[in-house]
Amino acid sequence: MRRPILRYGEAVLRDPAGPVTGWTPELQQLVDDMIETMHAAPGIGLAAPQIGVGLRLFVVDLSVGRDPSALKVLANPEFVERHGLQCEEEGCLSVPGFNATVPRPQRVVIRGEDRDGRIQTYEGVGLLARAFQHEMDHLDGRVFLHRLKPLRRMLIERRITRLRRRGRW
Ligand SMILES: [Zn+2]
Repeated sequence: MRRPILRYGEAVLRDPAGPVTGWTPELQQLVDDMIETMHAAPGIGLAAPQIGVGLRLFVVDLSVGRDPSALKVLANPEFVERHGLQCEEEGCLSVPGFNATVPRPQRVVIRGEDRDGRIQTYEGVGLLARAFQHEMDHLDGRVFLHRLKPLRRMLIERRITRLRRRGRW
């Protein structure tokens, strides 16, 4: 089932998420819903807090559904390595209509549980490294705006405030 994607400003997007503690049928359903919601958006990543669930869980799929092997589900992820620097345009399904150049590591190694509860380690370079870091930020209560210089962030926040006042956010 597709779920509504919450927008920047919602408390659940600001709070650090809690650990996943067991692969219940409800959690499997949540993962299915996250994948469906990400693909429908369309987007290349979605974290559980974005649909209102404060758990350390995200899905990433650079192929947006075209290549099943590109789909990665990670619970309780942690970075094992982070190297280098890339600066590319980035957006977020919870901050629709806004993009900015965000500094990110060029290469990461991340470890977490897949949906069968097995520990998996993935290497991400370039866009995949960016996606992993972006989704990890969501689990820590951050969105890409928090990675911008204060002035750039303030300008975007101001425009969002205006949209909110008009009931368009
Ligand atoms: Zn995002």
